[in-house]
Amino acid sequence: MALHCDFSRAFPGGPRVEAAFDVDLDRFGVTVLFGASGCGKTTILRCLAGLDRPDSGRISADGTPWFDAPSRRWVPPQGRQVGYVFQESALFPHLDVRGNIAFGLRGWAARERQERIREMIRIMGLEGMERRRPLELSGGERQRVALARALAPRPQMLLLDEPFASLDRPAAERLRRELRHVLQALGTPAMLVTHNRDEALSLGDRLLLMREGSIRQSGSPAEVFARPDSREAAELLGFSTVLRTRVQGRREGLLRLQAGGVELLASDPGGEFQEAYACIRGEGVSLERHGSAVTTQRNHLAGRVAAIQPLGPLVRVRVDCGFPLEALITSWACEDLALALGDPIHALIKATAVVVIPIEA
Ligand code: ADP
Ligand code: MG
Repeated sequence: MALHCDFSRAFPGGPRVEAAFDVDLDRFGVTVLFGASGCGKTTILRCLAGLDRPDSGRISADGTPWFDAPSRRWVPPQGRQVGYVFQESALFPHLDVRGNIAFGLRGWAARERQERIREMIRIMGLEGMERRRPLELSGGERQRVALARALAPRPQMLLLDEPFASLDRPAAERLRRELRHVLQALGTPAMLVTHNRDEALSLGDRLLLMREGSIRQSGSPAEVFARPDSREAAELLGFSTVLRTRVQGRREGLLRLQAGGVELLASDPGGEFQEAYACIRGEGVSLERHGSAVTTQRNHLAGRVAAIQPLGPLVRVRVDCGFPLEALITSWACEDLALALGDPIHALIKATAVVVIPIEA
């Protein structure tokens, strides 16, 4: 069984959202839809759930059309056996935990319904909270109830739209770990919308990278994060330095690149090209007060501290070394280095931390 999507949905004045992909419904797997805010992720999920209607194309599950533009076929949400959980899940405020979970089980025989509610309460770790109403629950507990409600009717698939976005970090991380186990135990495939890299890497089996309304790259999350295939993908995936460079030479699996009068060594992806984007993550850059003569890091760039921006436990440092280079270091390291604006500094980068995207001539 597979969910087959090939549709588009345009909003006046907005981008045209296009979705073309398949999801295996026979076994557990999490497909991550990853992209910047406004690129169309929610629109795709709403069309899958039947909450919104595409303008053209088709959606089918196991060969049964849910939507088919030419023949005007349309299956309403309740006919699709799809569960969904949104960022701020709208639980019924006047119903307690049991009542909320029972909502999706209308039409079930009373005994089976009670059994299923008990089972979902156990699976989602909600024991002891059965009689509480949403206002008497924490944000994490509310999302557990929303998950229990969505999963109770045994959907063929679960749609998750940034379900952890309103939770604090420890609660989000805990629920994220549990969610994967629960879905795996139930054998329920899921589609997860996020723009959080850790979430994509820890939960996803497959990643669809979206930009401006369409899917631009797909693969395992680790693969896509390591090997973006365009400048835009690299920027979306958190490569904070993306430079246009010229190839100067190649030797023993390394590429010699030139940018802003500075030379960079990078691992060679192979193929014929004269120009390439060199993409570097902030985490891949280390900083030293005095450049050491011998290190395993192939790139030593002398520069000056151009900006220091604290980001909680991390600090983003921009170094002007012929081009603007961004380093992401711990605040501890930043204190040890006693960094100040204008200070001379050495930036070190492994050749393998420079991802090369060839520019076609
Ligand atoms: P994302 O979930 O990736 O942030 P959305 O799918 O919510 O993106 O939105 C994609 C685009 O479609 C945005 O430009 C948004 O403003 C527009 N859009 C979404 N829903 C509507 C709507 N009901 N009417 C008009 N424009 C909409
Ligand atoms: Mg959205």
